[in-house]
Amino acid sequence: MILIVGGAGYIGAHINKQLNLNGYETIVFDNLSYGHEDFIKWGTFERGDLGDVEDIRKIFEKYPITAVMHFAAFTFVGESVEDPQRYYKNNVCNTLNLLQVMLEFDVKKLVFSSTCATYGDPVEIPITEQHPQNPISPYGRGKLMVENVLSDYSRAYNLHYVSLRYFNAAGADPDADIGELHNPETHLIPLILDAASGCRDNIKIFGTDYNTPDGTCIRDYVHVTDLAHAHLKALQYLEDGGKSDYFNLGNGNGFSVNEVIEKSRKITGNDIKAIEEDRRPGDPPILVGSSDKIRKILGWEPKYDDLSLIIETAWKWHQKREK
Ligand code: UDP
Repeated sequence: MILIVGGAGYIGAHINKQLNLNGYETIVFDNLSYGHEDFIKWGTFERGDLGDVEDIRKIFEKYPITAVMHFAAFTFVGESVEDPQRYYKNNVCNTLNLLQVMLEFDVKKLVFSSTCATYGDPVEIPITEQHPQNPISPYGRGKLMVENVLSDYSRAYNLHYVSLRYFNAAGADPDADIGELHNPETHLIPLILDAASGCRDNIKIFGTDYNTPDGTCIRDYVHVTDLAHAHLKALQYLEDGGKSDYFNLGNGNGFSVNEVIEKSRKITGNDIKAIEEDRRPGDPPILVGSSDKIRKILGWEPKYDDLSLIIETAWKWHQKREK
C-alpha cells in the first residue's frame, strides 16, 4: 500500500486518483488543515498529524506500507517570510518525524514534493537540475533542507527517494472530480477564473515592468494530471530499484501573466477585467524549467502541455464547483 501524506490537497488528491486508476491501494494521511475531505474519493482516509510521531506510527502499524509520497507542506511563500517558524516546523521538522517512522518500519521508498523555489533567482533559463540552489524564502530554504536531509539519509540509511521540483502546478482533473482549491487562494489561474465567473471583480497583474516581452512574469505551467503521472513514474522507478535522484517537473514552456489572462478570456468567453499593480515581492521575472532529465530517465511525457488544455480543465472544474 502507498501512503499519501497530504493526500487531501490539490496535488496529493490528483496523485491519489492516478495511483488508484493504476491498481495501487492508497492510504491518505492528512490533518485537513488545508486539505479537503471531499477530495478523498479513492483509497482509505486516516486523519492525523505529522507533528505527532504516535499518529504516524499508528498508520504504519495498521497498514502494510511499501512506499510513501509526501505532499503535506505549507506553500505560501510570502507567509513563510512573515512567519518562518511555522514553515520550518511544518515543512522540515514534521518531515523528519515522517522519515523517522519510515526508518523504524523499514519503509525505504519516498517520493518528495520539492519545488523550483529551491533555485531562487534564476541565473540561467531554462533552469536545469544543475542550476545553483540559492532559495530566497524560508519556504524554498525549508524544501532545500529536506532535499539535503534525504540525500544524507539515502547515504546513511539506504533510503531511496525521488524529489520532484515542481514548477507551476495548474489545471484540474479532466473528469472534474477534483481541482485546484486553496484558502486563501493566491494562484493566478483560479483567481482569473474567479474573475471570469464573477466571484471577484478583477484580476490584479503583479508587475508590468519586468524585462519580458510583454512586461509581465513568465511561468512554466504544468498540468496537475501530468504531474500526477510523473509521481506514478517515480514510484515505479523506485520499485524497479532506481537510485535516489531529483528531477524538475515542468513543461519547458513559459507563458506570461498577460498570455494566461488572454487565453482565459477566449476559453471562458467572459470579459476578465485586469488591473495593473505593483510587483509582488519575491517574484522572479521568468521561471521555466528544463524537463529533459525526467523525460529521459523516468520516460515522462506530458499530455496536457498546452495552456488551453490547462485552462479548459481548470474552467470545467471551476464551473462544476460553483453549481
Ligand atoms: N500573479 C498575478 N496576480 C495574481 C496572482 C499571481 O499577477 O493575482 C502572478 C505572479 O506574480 C506570478 C504568476 O502570476 O508571476 C504566477 O503566480 P502564482 O501565485 O500562481 O504561482 P507562483 O509562481 O507564485 O508559484
